[in-house]
Amino acid sequence: MNNMTDNLENIKNQIAAHCQKVNRSIDEIVLVAVSKTMPTSSIEAVAKLGIYEFGENKVQEIKDKYPVLDPKLNWHMIGHLQTNKVKYIIDKVTLIHSVDSLKLAKEINRQALKHESIMPILIQVNVADETTKFGIKPSETEKMIREIAKLPHIKIEGLMTIAPYVVDSEENRPIFRKLKEISVDIDNKNIDNVDMRILSMGMSGDFGIAIEEGATMIRVGTGIFGNRNVK
Ligand SMILES: *Cc1c(COP(=O)(O)O)cnc(C)c1O
Repeated sequence: MNNMTDNLENIKNQIAAHCQKVNRSIDEIVLVAVSKTMPTSSIEAVAKLGIYEFGENKVQEIKDKYPVLDPKLNWHMIGHLQTNKVKYIIDKVTLIHSVDSLKLAKEINRQALKHESIMPILIQVNVADETTKFGIKPSETEKMIREIAKLPHIKIEGLMTIAPYVVDSEENRPIFRKLKEISVDIDNKNIDNVDMRILSMGMSGDFGIAIEEGATMIRVGTGIFGNRNVK
């Protein structure tokens, strides 16, 4: 019936195995369950298993799911965010993973100010350099971070990347390694209001490799919920 229990068990075992391989503690890894397209009943089932971090890539889905689910759940915006939609999620999300422009950051700052809050964000870096994906170029990351760091209602907490879909997850290792390198470089600059404690990288097919390369947050959808019915 409910194989999400087995799925989650399996993911946790894999997390533990990859952590062990590189001498990391499982406590260093935050598992974000990517619930996009999934019904609230499935999210409730996963929450019952002790997972409270959920990732969505559409503003509309966060708007729909947030009010009907347990307020203790934490929502992560992991998809491309349009500036004009920030206002709908600013008071609902824990972390925005996908900040890739100064314009977007300024709007997040403006909305957070309205709510007298400080919004934690990650900078999305396009390490794989695929033309179809969003994100800042590695070479422009530091400059962008220095600008965004000046905004008082934003707190930069790290970096995020989306690696391409590959059959052999080893192929994505250089991408994860590169994101880690960029984060270490930026951390060494000691920029005010910038923390590099979060590295959001790795999905169902490649989170093990991402963990070996330093991920502190992995985003797992199908590995927990099963296949999505794509419309
Ligand atoms: C859908 C999605 C994921 C999860 O993908 P799975 O392969 O289902 O684990 C992770 N990150 C982002 C940004 C996504 O859009």
